[in-house]
Amino acid sequence: MKWSIRIARVRGIGIYVHLTFFLVLVWVGWMEWQRSGSMAQVGGGVLFTLLTFFIIVLHELGHAISAGWFGIRTKDITLLPIGGLARLERMPEKPWQEIVVALAGPAVNVILALAIGGAILLAGRRPDLFGSDPMTGSLPARLFWLNVILTAFNLIPAFPMDGGRVLRASLAAVTDHATGTRWAALVGRGIAALFVVAGLTWNPGLALIGIFVWFGAGAEARAAELKSSLAGLLAGHALQTDIRILDGRETVGQAALRTLASPQFEYPVMVEGRLVGIATATALTEALAQSGPATPVLNATRTDAVVAGLDTPLEQMVGLIQGSGLRSGLVTDQAGKLLGAVTLDSISSAIQLRAAWADAGSAGRS
Ligand SMILES: [Zn+2]
Repeated sequence: MKWSIRIARVRGIGIYVHLTFFLVLVWVGWMEWQRSGSMAQVGGGVLFTLLTFFIIVLHELGHAISAGWFGIRTKDITLLPIGGLARLERMPEKPWQEIVVALAGPAVNVILALAIGGAILLAGRRPDLFGSDPMTGSLPARLFWLNVILTAFNLIPAFPMDGGRVLRASLAAVTDHATGTRWAALVGRGIAALFVVAGLTWNPGLALIGIFVWFGAGAEARAAELKSSLAGLLAGHALQTDIRILDGRETVGQAALRTLASPQFEYPVMVEGRLVGIATATALTEALAQSGPATPVLNATRTDAVVAGLDTPLEQMVGLIQGSGLRSGLVTDQAGKLLGAVTLDSISSAIQLRAAWADAGSAGRS
């Protein structure tokens, strides 16, 4: 994610902090200073915020590590001012696996709450836990309640909360992924509306959460819609074979002339009949402007192109293409010979074509 810096690496998973997070720290410090005018309070507020985000990282690691049990890698974990985000390479296929991965995050908070609460009780500081206002008590007591709140909040059965995923996966287990998501999104929107009503009555913060949940439910429903429209389609169904190919050793000047009138955005690059990567029109133009027309195309070539086979599911390919930041992926045969490209446009054409085909089929029957 842009504007993020890496602060740690756990089991090969990069942990990033979005730069706006530091604004939150400054804001918390400033609010504490306004409220109390004491540097100790400012330090306490900032420390509690840092610990909150540390606990959120542990929660996200719960998702990431449990996803690893099912062979799913996590690209990275990013801390945003609104919380954490673990980007999994893909979602688990089987509903029960999705339930395990979704519950693993809140499970971390349950364990932390039990450990911290237990330690407080063992230390004989029971009144700390149940004071008049728990969030102004001792630091351990506040951390205990923080974990209780994070558990409860994440188990709300609405996207994008973990509880929403558990609900979706449970519904998907008895129907199918798309239907499960549609129903879960509907429930999520109902809960979002309740939050907004409660927010207008009691606490504006709840209304904000409601709006956040409303849009989260919509995004998840759209993703499920895409997933079901891609189901059963393979890379071969969206293959474009009539594409221009560049030679890695030709110059960007020559390539620019050859591709001037081409509507193509990205070009496979070959050297001596071997596929080496992909060059985007933008990279070619930049190389031309910065290093001159004699620069070899190879210097503007990305070697991490998405390469798949004819029978790669399109759903998987869309995920890989989006993850790569490119607009297309390349398709080769088993010997590695380039067959063509799959672009986001050719994918949407394939979806439309299949829908039209289905309509024609039902029209023919009536
Ligand atoms: Zn979570």
